Amino acid sequence: MTVSVANGRVLIVGATGFIGRFVADASLDAGRPTYVLVRPSSGNQYSKDKVAKALRDRGAILLNGLANDKELMVKLLKEHQIEIVISALGGATILDQLSLVEAIHSAGTVKRFLPSEFGHDVDRADPVEPGLTMYKEKRQVRRLIEKLEIPYTYICCNSIASWPYHNNRHPSEVIPPLDHFEIYGDGSVKAYFVAGTDIGKFTMKTVDDIRTLNKSVHFRPACNFYNMNELAALWERKIRRTLPRVTVTEEDLLSAAAENIIPQSVVASFTHDIFIKGCQINFPIEGPNETEACSLYPNEPFRTLDDCFNDFLAKMKDENMKQSDENTKQSNEIPPPKPVVEAFAITATCA
Ligand code: NDP
Repeated sequence: MTVSVANGRVLIVGATGFIGRFVADASLDAGRPTYVLVRPSSGNQYSKDKVAKALRDRGAILLNGLANDKELMVKLLKEHQIEIVISALGGATILDQLSLVEAIHSAGTVKRFLPSEFGHDVDRADPVEPGLTMYKEKRQVRRLIEKLEIPYTYICCNSIASWPYHNNRHPSEVIPPLDHFEIYGDGSVKAYFVAGTDIGKFTMKTVDDIRTLNKSVHFRPACNFYNMNELAALWERKIRRTLPRVTVTEEDLLSAAAENIIPQSVVASFTHDIFIKGCQINFPIEGPNETEACSLYPNEPFRTLDDCFNDFLAKMKDENMKQSDENTKQSNEIPPPKPVVEAFAITATCA
């Protein structure tokens, strides 16, 4: 059941980032009028410009500004009559959303706000530091949303479909291991893995669904419920060979977290929470303010982890092919002519 939002204009904040791009693409796929806030400059200018241009080419309207510039955000929200705001700000700028929430409150146009969550239920999960600090910031944003009575949906999509490297915050950009597996603990704790495209797709389904109003939506696709041992076996079937396994103990993960190297230690603390403590599975979804994506949209399939691993295999073959083409090219190249030293007849002259 969806609530018709007059023109359903969506503003995505953080669309040039890892998760935001999936959401922006899904918004465009769904044919929604999609606005994208692009911040003026950052270290990652080239790839960011490329993403922004690709979104614009697909029909997104680019707006320039900072999410934490309250005055500007009020102006943009009103001027473009934005009704849905989705934030995918990264871990380092979670608190920038406090001004955005205030702007949403002042503008009065927004019928649903989805803050930057896209992980676990931060009110429930309790990772060690430094992950805990990020959760405390996300909780702070939640409390302001609730205090100002802004209609919200919290997306708890669990892990992205990939090998869960404990030191990489965007693990789906990396092919699963080819030399050895690092297994956390005894490898038996299960987790849910969701394709990036499905994080975008199901997020967009919730934005005007009355059943998700003021609720946390958990993504628990049964087909993608794996532990580390099963994940390793799945990848081995794809690459048709077995790899050695190395145990990464609870203490190893806690030490990696305690090193406090950002962002790797944040990822280590979440890895500990997922694969040692079982933070994705140690509670039932039954509270009045929570619901589950598969039960909301039973006819809408999730991509399977098996398919996602096929994508990694294809990517690996593609990279191997490029590398072998490059090697062939280099070995076939006619070596550049050696500089010829011409013998000049030197005539002694006397001025
Ligand atoms: P990224 O760092 O990849 O992207 C952040 C985006 O926010 C970029 O587009 C960045 O712009 C933009 N941004 C940051 N600050 C501002 C600001 N003040 N004003 C406007 N734009 C701003 O973030 P991630 O995709 O890694 O993280 C997004 C969310 O997803 C987080 O809540 C994170 O915890 C969660 N996450 C979940 C994962 C999972 O497996 N479930 C994996 C990774 C993240 P610019 O391009 O200019 O830098």
